[in-house]
Amino acid sequence: MSGYRYRCNKCGITWDEVSTQYQAEAERARHRHEAHDDGPPDGDTIHTPNARPWPPTGALITVLVLVTLFIWGSRHGR
Ligand SMILES: [Zn+2]
Repeated sequence: MSGYRYRCNKCGITWDEVSTQYQAEAERARHRHEAHDDGPPDGDTIHTPNARPWPPTGALITVLVLVTLFIWGSRHGR
């Protein structure tokens, strides 16, 4: 997947891939206007290419280890 795709969960439609976010936003605006009276439907999204989950897994593990060490340390440090 290398493009942007607009999906309306309410209508169950995913539009064809476009190459820029601007085009996807234009499709979203057009669909909201035509099908939803210019209102945002429940759960419409623009899928962006190479979207990374946030926070990154590495940072999450680091925080988890630090918190675990902190809790362990405070319980055994007395
Ligand atoms: Zn819709």
